[in-house]
Amino acid sequence: MTDGPRYRLILFGPPGVGKGTQARLLQQRLGICSIATGDLLRDEVARKTDLGLQAARFMEAGSLVPDEVVIGMVKGRIRAQGGCGAGFILDGFPRTVAQAEALRAADIGIDLVVYLRVSEEAIIRRLTGRKICPSCGRVFHVEYAPPADGAHCDSCSAALITREDDQEATVRARLRVYEEKTAPLVRYYREQGLLATVDGMQEPEHVLQDILTVLRQTRTES
Ligand code: AMP
Repeated sequence: MTDGPRYRLILFGPPGVGKGTQARLLQQRLGICSIATGDLLRDEVARKTDLGLQAARFMEAGSLVPDEVVIGMVKGRIRAQGGCGAGFILDGFPRTVAQAEALRAADIGIDLVVYLRVSEEAIIRRLTGRKICPSCGRVFHVEYAPPADGAHCDSCSAALITREDDQEATVRARLRVYEEKTAPLVRYYREQGLLATVDGMQEPEHVLQDILTVLRQTRTES
């Protein structure tokens, strides 16, 4: 691994694969910042900023927010988090080859891209049952990871919500967008020797262990 931050990771995979859950676990385990473009965009939408107003209609339709909007936002955030010495996790970025090229052009190095894989049926089941905490971002599921009282966040007690784009028709639209625009990045990062594939069908703690294992291997090999 090169000088600078110790971990510079991309968590990659289709929507609903568990990137947010793993980012949260890695953040706790490694003391590392997580930059989730979906969360940043939802925050902009909630605050009705110019960027949020621009992004909202794309998000509601399950399509991608234009590259230039997202790229500017991520670069600003990485710069602002310069004090985050242990590194960063990018969750939900890059989602197009143009976004990956923008990272390269900005000289933002990446040590490892973790590609989480799950079946399409599992994704639909996971997303349509998902509940999120609007306050701390913790993710629950009505069936697999229900909150203790059925309605509030176990960490911060805020009332849980269902994301609008987790309706089944929108989920299917997001999966089509993923196949068309985002999946080509598998080849892009494989060719750069940065891609490690992890089975995302396992329990979250097992997925985390597999990610930590590939991370250790990367650090030993470099
Ligand atoms: P997520 O929370 O990562 O599933 O993202 C929710 C929505 O935000 C996506 O369906 C897109 O509309 C938008 N979005 C998040 N990240 C990006 C990105 N890197 N590029 C374009 N749109 C994005």
